[in-house]
Amino acid sequence: MSVSPREDFAGVTLQRGLDQVADELRRADRFLLTTHENPDGDALGSLLAMHWVLEQLGKDSVMYMSPDEFPLSHEYRHMTFDGLLGAAPDDVDDRTVVFLDCGNIDRMPMDFLRREGMHILNVDHHHDNTRFGTVNLVVPEASCTAEIVFDLARELRAEITPRIAEALYVGLVTDTGRFMYENTTPTAHRMAADLIEVGVDTHRVYRRLFEDLPFRRLELLTRALQGVARYDEGSITMAMLTRSDYEQTGALETDSEGVVDHLRAVEQTKVAVLVRELLSDDRRGRRKVSLRATDGEVDVSLIARNLGGGGHRQAAGFTTELAPDELVTTLREQVATQLGAV
Ligand code: AMP
Ligand code: MN
Repeated sequence: MSVSPREDFAGVTLQRGLDQVADELRRADRFLLTTHENPDGDALGSLLAMHWVLEQLGKDSVMYMSPDEFPLSHEYRHMTFDGLLGAAPDDVDDRTVVFLDCGNIDRMPMDFLRREGMHILNVDHHHDNTRFGTVNLVVPEASCTAEIVFDLARELRAEITPRIAEALYVGLVTDTGRFMYENTTPTAHRMAADLIEVGVDTHRVYRRLFEDLPFRRLELLTRALQGVARYDEGSITMAMLTRSDYEQTGALETDSEGVVDHLRAVEQTKVAVLVRELLSDDRRGRRKVSLRATDGEVDVSLIARNLGGGGHRQAAGFTTELAPDELVTTLREQVATQLGAV
């Protein structure tokens, strides 16, 4: 069963989808909540908020993230996940599994969540979500998955406690690029207002998310910016980080978060690209590519999907075994195709 507001009269279909998932959440007693690998603020905020809403309703809810995700990116160091599991619970087959902010089951590498017969609620806002759930509540119009969780919480008449509000706000402020990206709708701002009324300390959250950075981040950023390359009249602005950049700065894999935004900001840029070598031994030779579009001209999710990943029109990613020069050639071709230059 799939519910996407684009398929029908938007408001009615969305309401039907929310009703259906709210019903599922009301009826079941045991849940396992999870999200995509390399979780970002929306993934983590949605996960925590949903967990606390379900607990408030007296449900048995557990959260699952792979131990490989830890330590989390520095931004999220203040978020605490009591009762988080790093392995499948014995009763996993009896639990309703709720995926949050995960557009594609391949972004959850754990096999125990990919077996036939699992009852999966797929709650997400990626337009290219593959609808892998038993029930899919995919709302591309939502600024963030946290916005959908907020709707569900109200549908379930849950109290938006200060900690739920803060978790939702983290999802909202990160996925809207601090209320700057195109997904910054009136609804997003109304949600922010509601959460601030509950008591979210916006400045404190901002400091935690975006400041108080370890110095190694600045050193890693410096290295990325020193190697910036521009292609095709500057329409592509690209930086690469190598294993040695990480080693020499002592930076962690997640310390490159935000680097691509510096590239996006440069004049002429239509697509900003950050390529970083993956560090774990089992991913040797693979690179993670982050793509950002500056306007509606290029849909970077299409490029990412062509290369085995996905995401939003303005922000997408994939991992690849292509060598850097092949990668550059491919990306230039793909961007040129979309710009009608070939
Ligand atoms: P990132 O560049 O990792 O910050 O990701 C930007 C956006 O692309 C997010 O919405 C991600 O969910 C999505 N994304 C990143 N990597 C992948 C991937 N390998 N597969 C599908 N979506 C991805
Ligand atoms: Mn999101």
